[in-house]
Amino acid sequence: MIVLRQKAAQMIRLAVKAEPTLEVSGFGKAHLEDGKITVTDIIIPPQEGGGAYTDIEKGNLRTTLIEIARKGHTLSDYPVWWHSHCGMTTHPSRQDDDTLELLAESVPDLGWFAGLVTNLRGEYYGWIDVEHPVGLFAELDVEAKGTFASHGVATQVKQMMKRVIDKSPVTPKGAYPSLRGQALPYEYGVWNAEDLASFRKIAEEGEERGR
Ligand SMILES: [Zn+2]
Repeated sequence: MIVLRQKAAQMIRLAVKAEPTLEVSGFGKAHLEDGKITVTDIIIPPQEGGGAYTDIEKGNLRTTLIEIARKGHTLSDYPVWWHSHCGMTTHPSRQDDDTLELLAESVPDLGWFAGLVTNLRGEYYGWIDVEHPVGLFAELDVEAKGTFASHGVATQVKQMMKRVIDKSPVTPKGAYPSLRGQALPYEYGVWNAEDLASFRKIAEEGEERGR
């Protein structure tokens, strides 16, 4: 079971609501006690997000690890990776499983990492990847303590959310229907930025030829 203490629960809720269209992600400071993974605090690393992916780049992860080290901890002290699925269900994707596995492998001293997916409706899905002694994924119950209104916590979240950059592709007005019948890339309900760039190119070249 994953237990979110009040402060952690409130921070996650504030972060998710602050960017309702971004898959904000972060880590949770937690300890394992009586079979419960209790989350007491969270950290939101610098990141670039879109509607259907959450991207903590290596450089940003490095910054996070330095921040954690400054607090006198290591990633093993933050063994819960959480992220928002915005308005979608909280079921983890294949990529989420892969990320969790990667994180579990990166803390050999601990040998496991817990994942937590939440959404705008305040639903949660918890699961764990155990690497040692045998590899396994297991679903975990999630208990989120009632949130409370703390100005200090809200300020902390606001501060960390400044480093969350919206990289959602911008949909140009009315550009798509005229793209010469090309099948348009549509993934998880948002445009993929790279595909969008290549389609823009096709559209521009098409105009060139048409002259
Ligand atoms: Zn996900």
